[in-house]
Amino acid sequence: MLSTMQDVPLTLSRILRHGSVVHGDSLVTTWTGEGEPHRRTYAEIGERCARLAHALTDGLGVRRGDRVATFMWNNAEHLEAYFAVPSMGAVLHTLNLRLPAEQLVWIVGHAADRVILVNGSVLPLLAPLLPRMGSVEHLVVVGPADTSVLEGCPQTVHEYEALLAGRPTGYDWPDVDERDAAAMCYTSGTTGDPKGVVYSHRSIFLHSMQVNMSESIGLTCQDTTLPVVPMFHVNAWGIPHATFMTGIGMLMPDRFLQPEPLAEMIESERPTHAAAVPTIWQGLLNELDARPRDISSLHTVTIGGAACPPAMMRDFEERHSVRVCHAWGMTETSPLGTVAHPPGGLTPEEEWPYRVTQGRFAASVEARLRGPEGQFMPWDGKAAGELEVRGPWIAGAYYGGAGGEPVRPDDKFSPDGWLRTGDVGVISPNGYLTLTDRAKDVIKSGGEWISSVDLENQLMSHDAVEEAAVVAVPDEKWGERPLAVVVFKDGADGADGAGYEELRTYLGDRVAKWQLPERWARIEAVPKTSVGKFDKKVLRAQYAAGALD
Ligand code: ADP
Repeated sequence: MLSTMQDVPLTLSRILRHGSVVHGDSLVTTWTGEGEPHRRTYAEIGERCARLAHALTDGLGVRRGDRVATFMWNNAEHLEAYFAVPSMGAVLHTLNLRLPAEQLVWIVGHAADRVILVNGSVLPLLAPLLPRMGSVEHLVVVGPADTSVLEGCPQTVHEYEALLAGRPTGYDWPDVDERDAAAMCYTSGTTGDPKGVVYSHRSIFLHSMQVNMSESIGLTCQDTTLPVVPMFHVNAWGIPHATFMTGIGMLMPDRFLQPEPLAEMIESERPTHAAAVPTIWQGLLNELDARPRDISSLHTVTIGGAACPPAMMRDFEERHSVRVCHAWGMTETSPLGTVAHPPGGLTPEEEWPYRVTQGRFAASVEARLRGPEGQFMPWDGKAAGELEVRGPWIAGAYYGGAGGEPVRPDDKFSPDGWLRTGDVGVISPNGYLTLTDRAKDVIKSGGEWISSVDLENQLMSHDAVEEAAVVAVPDEKWGERPLAVVVFKDGADGADGAGYEELRTYLGDRVAKWQLPERWARIEAVPKTSVGKFDKKVLRAQYAAGALD
């Protein structure tokens, strides 16, 4: 029997229309680095989305299904592309500004992007690659730029504001199929070649509703959020779409992602929420130590993308009264998979063991753990396995290139279609996920597994340690052993006794003896991936021989 309910497609144009009318006065503020930040209302953004859609269709001949790429920071214009491109039926492809040139060229070719919108500030990065981006016909330069770098580039070059000027402020958004592609994002390649994840209107719509649930990020129109997480990385965790549903104010950092301007913009624009990977927050905490600022407007920061060291969570909370909420996800999961809200009725101290986990699954995300022999593991908080998930905003395949079939590599999808996350962990009976490692980062020592994340978290709770990464290095006797790479805080470089021996003793009180690293190295900074996570691939290569300093 069929239901009697209306069958209304879940499309991004609905979110755009809603936000720009019902929350027309909400503000998107873009930090400019000097002088007044730039402010635009949701209503203005709505009108400019219509202009952009006219410019792309009437001006540049973009058709439904065509890929329009962005090479941009978090700013109001990027948000305009976020809504205009999918709403008119084309596909928004966000390019990661920090990828190596070769990967960028490959990704643009694979996606067959026809247009790239590029911020003037990053034009010099893109310009030398343009002759090798054969699919790209038009380049739209957004914001101040030195366009002399474009001399000889094969694309037709446009200036964003000039392209929008005089176009109609309304657009008859087509009723696209909710299953159509709306946006695409390639994985950042930490785990191999980039793979294209293609989000649908429906998956983004449902994911946005999840972001807005109080069990997730749950902001309201009285909040202002600072998404430090880039819009070129998993849709800035879905925040830009979610805000237009509820009228949340946005503070866009543009290219000012260093600790100093971040502290400055928080102090002067007073956001209530912010979201970023742990390394960004570590930098901000250090900055606040060096130059205290008023960040009291922040009530919550959402941290995810990599395991958040519990010591940092406590630091934030105890020293700055900011509640840290830990979340897990990946490009393939849109990304919200779990968020760590504790159950009710607990004291703040009792809440901690829940809050340092990766959190509980969203209602729409089913999860299971697969053990080493392929068997499913119980949710008992003890049995570890690789996490597999499925749900309406979880990828079921990767983009196969223009005209190609979607691809489902065996190591990424189970035979029955679940996403194999490559993350290893345990799940408690009441659904809290604790990740112990990525499958490829686990240290396999004499048939036992050592969690690199656990060792890192313990090390980073020591006062002398700024950052610590632990990787497997080959060992004749045990197969692999942990090597700890430590960034000491200023003045604690080991000379004052806070050296490896002390760290070993410190760890010895906290983890099993056989897990203690014998190999140590001091480093200026842990190498980071294009999205600011520890790059263990680089560390493993660097210390393959188990080098000591
Ligand atoms: P990449 O694989 O290129 O790093 P993603 O951003 O998709 O790109 O990374 C997703 C991965 O990041 C997850 O599979 C997981 O290993 C890690 N991750 C994300 N959030 C957390 C978290 N809260 N704790 C631990 N690891 C996390």
